[in-house]
Amino acid sequence: MISKILIANRGEIALRVLRACKELGIATVAVHSTADADAMHVRLADESVCIGPPPSRDSYLNIHQIVAACEITGADAVHPGYGFLSENAKFADILDAHGITFIGPTADHIRIMGDKITAKETAKSLGIPVVPGSAGEVKPENALEIAREIGFPVLIKATAGGGGRGMKVARNEDELSEAVSTARSEALAAFGNDAVYMEKYLGKPRHIEIQVVGDGEGNAIHLGERDCSLQRRHQKVWEEANSPALNVEQRMKIGEVCADAMRKLKYRGAGTIEFLYENGEFYFIEMNTRLQVEHPITEAITGIDLVHEQIRVASGAGLSVTQDEVVFSGHAIECRINAEDPRTFVPSPGTITHFHAPGGLGVRVDSGAYQGYRIPPYYDSLIGKLIVHGRTRVECMMRLRRVLDEFVIDGIKTTLPLFQDLINNQDIANGDYDIHWLEHYLAQPAE
Ligand code: ADP
Repeated sequence: MISKILIANRGEIALRVLRACKELGIATVAVHSTADADAMHVRLADESVCIGPPPSRDSYLNIHQIVAACEITGADAVHPGYGFLSENAKFADILDAHGITFIGPTADHIRIMGDKITAKETAKSLGIPVVPGSAGEVKPENALEIAREIGFPVLIKATAGGGGRGMKVARNEDELSEAVSTARSEALAAFGNDAVYMEKYLGKPRHIEIQVVGDGEGNAIHLGERDCSLQRRHQKVWEEANSPALNVEQRMKIGEVCADAMRKLKYRGAGTIEFLYENGEFYFIEMNTRLQVEHPITEAITGIDLVHEQIRVASGAGLSVTQDEVVFSGHAIECRINAEDPRTFVPSPGTITHFHAPGGLGVRVDSGAYQGYRIPPYYDSLIGKLIVHGRTRVECMMRLRRVLDEFVIDGIKTTLPLFQDLINNQDIANGDYDIHWLEHYLAQPAE
């Protein structure tokens, strides 16, 4: 059994994991950079260790320091949260070599899903529908032949991809060679690897992802989908569960395909299988082998604590529920609150002079922010997440409108006003949006 967990992360997710540990009676160790000495996750943890100066590479990404912190404190497991080392197979291997449990999948599964071509091949072999595309890497000399086979428009993507970098659309034959060479040079600059592959470009898809959890022994369940189509620069802004675009049969069908794939893979831990969805068809794009930022909306509609499940399966205790016991109830929406200008998205670090979180039925605020908290400029600008649940989508939206009015964060700029605009928008009310909708909306002049 796990008795002490070191949380190798910061901000709202470190706090989120800490809360689950407390509920399970597991001792906690926070790690932090010198810039985060005053952070809430440090204050609430049983013990804390400073692991380095502000830059992430010297602190939250410093494997050596984190392993040393485990040894000093006697932590027998590490929860990586999301980002940082959460999908680093080498980190999982090193912890294993030290006899420390990594709360996540095996290093092999992280590796398979970390390489886009291998991930896609694996998904296909497990029965998951994928985007039509090249069988593997595409070289400039065979690009035209492959593109003709797939049919234009096509998308050139980096094998090592992430964050939407190294991705280029070619609408026709004339645009192809330039798209391939730009994607290759962008991929080389961003990932030190110029390998690219090709996919059919989908014009107006939604982003729909399925939450799965497996016990590593061949049992796995799905917890339905999240619709994360509202994105800016491939970053999710607003997420909902369920998707306004799916009915129960579609949900259960794709969910079962994913759960079945995870059973065959003997996947351990929480994972998310991401799809583009267009004209009734699902197309696999990638799998994230970790907890996601937007996991609370799934928790809201299922009542299942995903971090509890992660800890259970990591310690060999198995899943707490079977698929038949999973009950989906109501609708949930998450708004990501960033310390950014709501129109230009320029980061706005600084001191929060006033902080009032909303409350009431169906309201959850996951945030490490508080009055007087100084947001350091070194990290991601996500400072909190607002999650609202209602019995129906309409009730959820009504509640969200009320809650947004109640939320006060002064002293810095935040993205709260953006959500106040979105909640009053007719397309959003109708659930009628695709992955390009938000970019188009933001490109319109402000009223
Ligand atoms: P990354 O790992 O770089 O984020 P993904 O494969 O997850 O790359 O894709 C990121 C985003 O790019 C998707 O959410 C979607 O908006 C867009 N995208 C990816 N593949 C396609 C495709 N075949 N057609 C259209 N858009 C795509």
